[in-house]
Amino acid sequence: MFNMPNVSVVNVLEGEYASSIVLMSVVIACCASYVALSLNQRIQQNSFFHRYFWLSLASVAMGLGIWSMHFVGMSAFMLPLSMEYDFFLTGISILPAIFASFLAFYIANRTNTSHWPYLVSGISMGLGISSMHYVGMAAMKMDASYVYKPIIFTISVLIAITVSYVALSIFSNSKRFIDTQLKKLITSIIMGLGISSMHYTGMKAVVFYVDKSAGHELNHIHQMDVSHLIKFVAIGITLLLLISGLASILDRYVEYRMNYFDALTQLPNQRQFESLLNKNMSLRGTLAIIEIHQLEKWISTHGYSIGDDIVQTVKRIIEEQKSPSSTIYRIEGNRLAIMDWDDQSGKRMKASLNEISAALKMPLKRKDHILTIDHICVYSSSNKEKGMKELFANTLAVLQHPSALMDSGVIEYNPSVHTFNLERQVVLDIERAMEQHELFLVYQPKVCSKTYDVSGVEALLRWKHPEQGMISPGVFIPILESNGKIFDVTDWVIREVSKQISIWKREGRPFAKVSINIPGPYITSERLMSVLKENIRDHNIDSRSLELEITETSVIDNIENAIKAVGEYRKLGLSVALDDFGTGLSSLSYLKRIPVTTIKIDKSFVDDVPDSEKDSAVLKAIITLCSSLNMKVVIEGVETKQQFDFIKSVTETPHIQGYYFSKPLEAQELTEWCLALPGKSCTTDEGIVSQV
Ligand code: C2E
Ligand code: CA
Ligand code: CA
Repeated sequence: MFNMPNVSVVNVLEGEYASSIVLMSVVIACCASYVALSLNQRIQQNSFFHRYFWLSLASVAMGLGIWSMHFVGMSAFMLPLSMEYDFFLTGISILPAIFASFLAFYIANRTNTSHWPYLVSGISMGLGISSMHYVGMAAMKMDASYVYKPIIFTISVLIAITVSYVALSIFSNSKRFIDTQLKKLITSIIMGLGISSMHYTGMKAVVFYVDKSAGHELNHIHQMDVSHLIKFVAIGITLLLLISGLASILDRYVEYRMNYFDALTQLPNQRQFESLLNKNMSLRGTLAIIEIHQLEKWISTHGYSIGDDIVQTVKRIIEEQKSPSSTIYRIEGNRLAIMDWDDQSGKRMKASLNEISAALKMPLKRKDHILTIDHICVYSSSNKEKGMKELFANTLAVLQHPSALMDSGVIEYNPSVHTFNLERQVVLDIERAMEQHELFLVYQPKVCSKTYDVSGVEALLRWKHPEQGMISPGVFIPILESNGKIFDVTDWVIREVSKQISIWKREGRPFAKVSINIPGPYITSERLMSVLKENIRDHNIDSRSLELEITETSVIDNIENAIKAVGEYRKLGLSVALDDFGTGLSSLSYLKRIPVTTIKIDKSFVDDVPDSEKDSAVLKAIITLCSSLNMKVVIEGVETKQQFDFIKSVTETPHIQGYYFSKPLEAQELTEWCLALPGKSCTTDEGIVSQV
């Protein structure tokens, strides 16, 4: 392999290169690196597909790229002898490249604290690339023989190892380094050039020769015929791109379906219904709720499948009878809602509910029993423009009335009969809710768009009411605020958050900051200061791990006192964020005076970005303004990749809070969410990094 025969008996052959094909081979290596890098980034994101799926796809892309680069490079090489290649050896020469890429990406995607794993995998990937190259060389069939110059041979292997090591370090830190398309492009070019230089150095190490006695005709230069090979490469790359593209689309679709649709019925879920409630629009329309009675009892005696069967039957009947203009939601396990808009919707809804109720009363035959679906259909409609929340409160009032439990029929909301109102119940039940854990907290991560670290979490209230089911904070918080109950609840939140911070601290996974929403007037109250101090002391937590979120409107109402109060919290070590920024339509002048650390840009500025040019320009201007004031910027309600990409194209610094990264999660789910994302870490403002 390395022993050169006596030059007096052999003719050494001089090879030449077709420069356009050399260039093509380098471009192929760069493109493959780019595709592999993009697929590699998917491994770090939440996905319907297992991470090994993306890992395998990235490895195949990289392996195929290295392999195609080699053979296209070989077709650029010309000798004064004809050359062919061995089909079998050519085929299997791709395997070392794929295996080596798999190993490399596997290690690079783990959270490694030392450099040894990178070195080991750099060596194995370098050896993988070199093996691919030299097995590929052995696949060449020609009349000439060849030997390798040992020094250049060794250098080529060392280049492969060094490039792999550098590439792996970049891959492993890709979430830090590769945060713009430009950086990704540059990294891919470096990798592509690295792979190509290994190949061409390897080629420099070969000496081709023929025996003088063989009498070969060496006047004509020959190029290897790789037309078949190029066809295979083209098919391979097309398939790969197709699979990755389809998988990405499917991935986004599944995520969207899981977040916004009920898994059993495929109907819009509670989340979509809540956003309808929170839209604050006033329209004429009708809201109906169909409640299935005794569903729990059927499930406990006959199992979940009967429960599913009942819900599906109700859904089918509603779909058959509802007016085409209405929409159905599954808002609770045993409740489905129908929403219809316009002046005539009341009459239409009444007629369809009568049909639905009649159909539900028909006995259903199931394997070994006959069942009837006990139910109640209630509705509330308005010919005047009313908010959705009011219609919802009215339907709940009907459901709460004793008649709703006995009846199996249709009841329309009547203000003189259905005197229950949600407001009263919220006020009456809130104490019990706090004591009996009906009230609980979920935490939504804020992710730094530059480093992809979790820079903090926001604590958000949830209420699972035993009769009303889940009540949205958008509904019960304004009630608590107008009934003076919100201070007690805020104290409860502060206590629960402090407890949770100390648990996370004990478990070794402290989140940099946990934010608490503070209602308007409470911010200037002395009671808040003492409650905070008390909890920081009792739970032995660092005050820097707490952040208060205050709204713009609450500050404006009492600007001088608010400035003073915020200053006091800052002195205590707490961060203060201005929530829902931009919704207050207020003067910006106070922004300079109020010592807040963070600005949270409201979701309404993000909703139509990037489709609406006007909104995109407004969002860009707000981000620039806030950044110029040297404040940390958090952008709320980011749901799509397009929104995320737009924000990143405007500035690198903002932190993102939104369904794009995660919905609010219970404490345990949050820990699992962090663990499922390799390398995700929590940073403090001081830059101390602790792995979650
Ligand atoms: P907020 O403080 O602006 O909280 C953000 C809200 O936006 C949360 O709704 C969150 O779940 C939702 N959200 C986050 N990302 C997305 C997204 O990508 N898309 C959509 N559509 N929504 C997103 P949530 O939890 O329903 O809370 C609503 C409001 O209720 C909060 O708005 C806050 O004003 C209030 N609230 C919640 N918990 C508390 C609390 O503990 N105390 C006080 N005083 N108010 C609270
Ligand atoms: Ca908030
Ligand atoms: Ca907000």
